[in-house]
Amino acid sequence: MQFLPEPYRTKTVERIKLLPRDERQRKLVEAHYNVFKIAAGDIFIDLLTDSGTSAMSDNQWAGLMTGDESYAGCNNYFNFENTIKSITGYTNVIPAHQGRVAENLLFTNIASDGDIVPSNTHFDTTRANIEHQKAEALNLVIDEGIDPKSEYDFKGDIDLKKVEDLIKRVGKDKIPVGMLTVTNNAGGGQPVSMENIRAYSELLREFDIPFYLDACRYAENCYFIKQREKGYKDKSIMEIANEMFSYADGCTMSAKKDGLANIGGFLATNDNKLASTITNMLILIEGFPTYGGMAGRDLEAVARGLMEALDEDYLRYRTEQVRIFGEMLEEGGIPIVRPPGGHAIFVDAKSFLPDFPRDEFPGWALTVALYREGGVRAVEIGGIMLGKQPDGTEKYPEMELVRLAIPRRVYSMAHLQYVVDVFKKIRDDKSLVKPLKIVWQAPVLRHFTIQLDEG
Ligand SMILES: *Cc1c(COP(=O)(O)O)cnc(C)c1O
Repeated sequence: MQFLPEPYRTKTVERIKLLPRDERQRKLVEAHYNVFKIAAGDIFIDLLTDSGTSAMSDNQWAGLMTGDESYAGCNNYFNFENTIKSITGYTNVIPAHQGRVAENLLFTNIASDGDIVPSNTHFDTTRANIEHQKAEALNLVIDEGIDPKSEYDFKGDIDLKKVEDLIKRVGKDKIPVGMLTVTNNAGGGQPVSMENIRAYSELLREFDIPFYLDACRYAENCYFIKQREKGYKDKSIMEIANEMFSYADGCTMSAKKDGLANIGGFLATNDNKLASTITNMLILIEGFPTYGGMAGRDLEAVARGLMEALDEDYLRYRTEQVRIFGEMLEEGGIPIVRPPGGHAIFVDAKSFLPDFPRDEFPGWALTVALYREGGVRAVEIGGIMLGKQPDGTEKYPEMELVRLAIPRRVYSMAHLQYVVDVFKKIRDDKSLVKPLKIVWQAPVLRHFTIQLDEG
């Protein structure tokens, strides 16, 4: 297997430790077989999420020292604002400490009871913020997007026919905004094509419906467009980003992804009236408009991170690392959702463990085995996370997945090779994955706190 060399070298290191197997088993018992409840210091390789887990560069750390902590008009805000304007072209930049606050500010002001907000696939926090306004968050990703075997280049595209039918059926007044998640996180980090973004934009404009991007992984999406879409090979990532944002009226963003920062976010928009209303709300819940819940130094780290994420050498390494990791798993006989997306690999636990009963939670059991056999932390997206229905019954989702999210600039290929070896050990002895039963669960979002037992 050919590895690309990292386009960076190590200046600071963080010690990680692999506990002995019997200690890992003890930690699992103490955590009631829930890897969310294991202390990060007891994990060897942590693939729980790519959110807020990026390694910052020397340039970002140096930027922290330039933090201007003035309450109003701090220097770093102007760098933050100008950077975001140079990438998006939007006229108003509203800082927020995380992406979900930007979403909350947007939907509180534009969505109401009975409205419908279409997207390719809404991320959980986006959905929750829409539903909080008693509106409906509707997923209209193309059919290829939910077919784990499809090799289509842009599995994050939205189904324009379905969007058009929706508008004609319910009327444009019921649709306060059209959203699009780039890349499509909840759909496996699959990219959206420029052609689809442009056509969606035209459709929404025809009906005077505003269009916002959920731009958390916009740079990774732009890189896929450059690689895969006709006409973009010779364009810079900045040019592709400029074009992409030009089709929308604004965006929400979590800087914990392609901001390469550990905290931060923003809402940017061309709608001056909305921006002014939102800014007033921001003062109420987040802070003054030139810091919005962030320290001056964090604004600086985000501003610098946003520019670093546009670096093609970085993006090539990033997307190749994820792709090669996925292919190493496949070569080791571990089935994954194809093709690898931008930020994570999704292992198909149902195919990996065909004889494991769904009501003994194969995906979750695999996350337990990964920790016990190798100190690796992954997250189940299957029967435990999605199975419990509002009426209390269990209905297992079509796919039983285990997500291996790759933090940015954190792990080397040797670390990921190690993860593949842990998988191979389990492949060779499937009895290492043990049936689970639920001992205690919360009424909603049970996966974070659920207690289970093996047996
Ligand atoms: C992470 C994420 C969010 C929410 O951002 P937070 O900073 O975690 O609040 C919204 N949308 C997508 C697609 C995300 O990945």
